Amino acid sequence: MKGETIRRRLDLRGQVQGVGFRPFVYRLATELGLGGYVGNTSNGAVIEIQGPATTVARFETALFERLPPLARVSELSSKDLDPVDDPVGGPVFDIHTSTADPFRRPEVTPDAATCPDCLAELFDPRDCRHHYPFINCTNCGPRYSIIRSVPYDRPATTMAVFKMCPLCDTEYSDPRDRRFHAQPNACPRCGPQLRLCRPDRSEIDGEPVPAAAAMLQEGRILAIKGIGGYHLACRADREDVVTGLRQRKLRDGKPLAVMVRDIRTARQFARLTPRDEEALRSPAAPIVLAAKPGNSGLAPSIAPGCSTVGLMIPYAPVHHLLFAHLAGLGPHGAAPLVMTSANLAGHPLTYRDDEAFDSLSDVADAFLIHDREIFRPIDDSVTFTFRGDNIPIRRARGYAPRPLPVTWPRAAGDTAAPGRGILAVGAELKSTVCLLNNREAILSEHLGDLSRPETYRHFVQAIDRLQELFGFRPAAVACDLHPQYLSTRYAAQLDLPVVAIQHHHAHIASVLAEHGDPGPVIGLSCDGTGYGTDGAVWGCELLLCSPGDFKRLGHLEYFPLVGGDAAAIETWRPAAALLRSAFGTAWRSEAADVLGKVPPHDLDVFEWQASAGVNAPPTSSLGRVFDAVAFLLGLCDRNRHEAEAAMALEAAAAGPEVNPYPCDVTPGDEGFKLSLAEALVGIQADVRAGQPIDRLAARFHETVAHLLATAAVMACESHGLNTVAVSGGCFANRRLLERVVALLESERLSVLYNRRVPAGDGGVALGQAAAAAWQMENPNRSAGS
Ligand SMILES: [Zn+2]
Ligand SMILES: [Zn+2]
Ligand SMILES: [Zn+2]
Repeated sequence: MKGETIRRRLDLRGQVQGVGFRPFVYRLATELGLGGYVGNTSNGAVIEIQGPATTVARFETALFERLPPLARVSELSSKDLDPVDDPVGGPVFDIHTSTADPFRRPEVTPDAATCPDCLAELFDPRDCRHHYPFINCTNCGPRYSIIRSVPYDRPATTMAVFKMCPLCDTEYSDPRDRRFHAQPNACPRCGPQLRLCRPDRSEIDGEPVPAAAAMLQEGRILAIKGIGGYHLACRADREDVVTGLRQRKLRDGKPLAVMVRDIRTARQFARLTPRDEEALRSPAAPIVLAAKPGNSGLAPSIAPGCSTVGLMIPYAPVHHLLFAHLAGLGPHGAAPLVMTSANLAGHPLTYRDDEAFDSLSDVADAFLIHDREIFRPIDDSVTFTFRGDNIPIRRARGYAPRPLPVTWPRAAGDTAAPGRGILAVGAELKSTVCLLNNREAILSEHLGDLSRPETYRHFVQAIDRLQELFGFRPAAVACDLHPQYLSTRYAAQLDLPVVAIQHHHAHIASVLAEHGDPGPVIGLSCDGTGYGTDGAVWGCELLLCSPGDFKRLGHLEYFPLVGGDAAAIETWRPAAALLRSAFGTAWRSEAADVLGKVPPHDLDVFEWQASAGVNAPPTSSLGRVFDAVAFLLGLCDRNRHEAEAAMALEAAAAGPEVNPYPCDVTPGDEGFKLSLAEALVGIQADVRAGQPIDRLAARFHETVAHLLATAAVMACESHGLNTVAVSGGCFANRRLLERVVALLESERLSVLYNRRVPAGDGGVALGQAAAAAWQMENPNRSAGS
């Protein structure tokens, strides 16, 4: 008994275009003998499915259970239609390939790691793509990095120059094939090729991959062109080799990412949680920051002063091939490799071949390159696991440009949800930009530090290319309040209304946008630096926030940021400023021991500047307090790269610690004053008494967590609220995040934090866009009302 025939229409929204969704539906329907069709719509896909009711039900179950790996369905609606007559010969299922709708969002998906099916073919000697380094299908391969324009079709990608051979073309045109409309489809006969070259660009004879693997095994440094740009690669298990790389380049001490052959090897080098492993294996294949065991076997200079190591596993076929060859060369399997973005300090990622040879010929012994052009350079993403979420610290390859929904429940009387054509240009360090339209935000990949002219050019190009790709025309531009940020100046010269959003408000708005929470909430926004409405350098802020508005309820007591930019580099400066605030006029004698390594003349100048207020703006920066404590504990004298001291302090903190130093939150006319003065005095005394550094570091973290939680609890009580949102670069510190969240939850408050975008300045553009949209849509609502 087959049951009655029904016809059902399913409307799906989400990431269902360009991910092999239609062929998948076709195969499923055909397998079950059902009729109907599948097609794309402006925001997703539509399926009409016809057959016996029980079989249609089986189809619907299997649709979700067997969804292709890159597909995501965010919304589904269905309705029953009148069945139509089956054609003579039985039911037929079609794929509608029409792209008639001019308003549809282009099918742009993130780049995805090589899938298991392609991997099996890569190592199958009978397969026509055996050992072919550019194998891919609709479930994997380059996407965003190779798309020039829309509609997303082969001529619009950097694959246009490769004409498909008959075999590839057959696969590409067959709806039943895994490579149906896989735009980068290629094989050894028709697709891109690898070459191994000397620094003078002459080609090295022989098979490129085995030769490159042999050079790596010997301890040489290679520049390798991958999906989004060039890496510098070398053995990660030999200190002499890694030191050699640092001497030639990368002197700034930044931790280096390590690629290992597979998950099993990854377990040797880090203590991985199941969620870490899931992230490593995901199509996004990010760098995952994981705890480093005592003796990992990795060269010590990979991540000096860090308790974590950034690991990833191969995500491009060329990586898999290199490791397969390395495995044959090493006595204990394939050596781990440093795989670090090949960019000169402060420059954007190197991705053009000419540029690579020009800038890396003194660094790399050889270049493993290919002739598939990278159109959109994109760095590896960096993530960490917190409470089951894999949270980006740097959001780039594998994540961008996946849209983020920005919707708030409508309050009575509200006319619309936010979101009409806003371009947000972000902050300055860790720049990203955001396009907000139709309740969806496209957050760009990490673009780098805009204070460098090269990165600024890259930023301008990225905005142009992103807007062109999405056919986006902004009605307004949102930027930071800082008048000197290059992003702010860029916004000012566009011929558009400008909405300036205060930096710390933008951080909290990014959390509200992610969670769809319309507020008001209490916000804790903590970072190194952000321009305040009073002209001071803000950085530890207690705010009352709605998405579009905020009120400052309190902040860390101001201390002078003496020496301008030098104050963010030389860690003795904030230490001296805080000791000066704690001890008053006697500060130099009281703190003589800890300040012993600072030249007395520098301290004289410091005192003069601090007392005269010369080049010494007031700051409430929590980032600088971390620097100060790292200095007092003898962990870091200079930030060679951003947050080096704070990372060293986090790494030093060991053991559970629930005993904070005294710290206070005092209400006053100008709001809550958060003070760490007494804590600093306590730390200085404990250092003098020879207390173990790991315990002092842990106690300091606990103190900051208590201070922040106490302030938030008091603010919640005085405003009758029970939700706290936390954001800002300081919450990339897992220990601090964990303790603040735990302390607030123990007070029965609900806590929101960034899960899909970075808590640091890489998430600010989303907050700016959301805040500006909210202001435009709700002109009469503010956080205070
Ligand atoms: Zn594949
Ligand atoms: Zn081919
Ligand atoms: Zn910030």
